[in-house]
Amino acid sequence: AAEAAKKAAFFAPEDEITFNPDPSASFQNMNLSRPILRGLANVGFTTPTLIQQKAIPVALLGKDVVGGAQTGSGKTAAFMVPILERLLYRPKKVPTTRVLILCPTRELAMQAHSVAVKLAAYTDIKFALAVGGLSLKVQEAELKKRPDVVFATPGRFIDHMRNSQGFGVETIEIVVMDEADRMLEDGFADELNEIINTIPKSRQTMLFSATMTDSVDKLVRLSLNRPVRLMVDSKKS
Ligand code: ADP
Ligand code: MG
Repeated sequence: AAEAAKKAAFFAPEDEITFNPDPSASFQNMNLSRPILRGLANVGFTTPTLIQQKAIPVALLGKDVVGGAQTGSGKTAAFMVPILERLLYRPKKVPTTRVLILCPTRELAMQAHSVAVKLAAYTDIKFALAVGGLSLKVQEAELKKRPDVVFATPGRFIDHMRNSQGFGVETIEIVVMDEADRMLEDGFADELNEIINTIPKSRQTMLFSATMTDSVDKLVRLSLNRPVRLMVDSKKS
């Protein structure tokens, strides 16, 4: 009951709260383009997980998304598939950094990056990492090439924002905060707010979190615009 009350407080009455998986759901029915469907086959995904079933169609529309979903529920493809699709749908003539994915740790950023690269194997989309433990100089050189998508930890991304000449965030169209609860627990609230406040308000923002704490709720209110809230019960995904 306490848990239900917490959910009720976090989710407005008009939001969809929980979902049952649709056994007939398929990536083929999501209006995805050829290269993305081939990318999904490349990583061996045949049926979308629950969070993928729910988040992909909403994110494809360009809406802000709050996804409450446990570890292992398939969040990476839930945000990467619509992101890749939207990048393909409106290509740029010159290299432009258009997407920022913020992850709590270097390891999680590297994992998500490697899935994204495989999903995008049949596209020209370029990726880069901006995480601790790797040379700032080398990363700076990579970021100067304006990769479409940057996977970053908040601390290292701030370093680049503050210190490296010529790296701007004004072209970013989509921001993902992956494992937002962990980033906040790890003390990145100020960094997240600084990053988010520097990126144009016209962006699409997606936030994923295993738990919906007050600080996550605050971050949602500060950084998302009328988000669609998708709460996926881990036992059903
Ligand atoms: P999360 O970020 O929610 O913890 P991941 O995106 O890392 O979850 O995915 C968890 C695992 O499930 C990974 O091993 C991934 O390859 C696998 N996976 C994700 N989506 C699918 C799918 N549609 N079909 C099969 N396996 C999937
Ligand atoms: Mg993940």
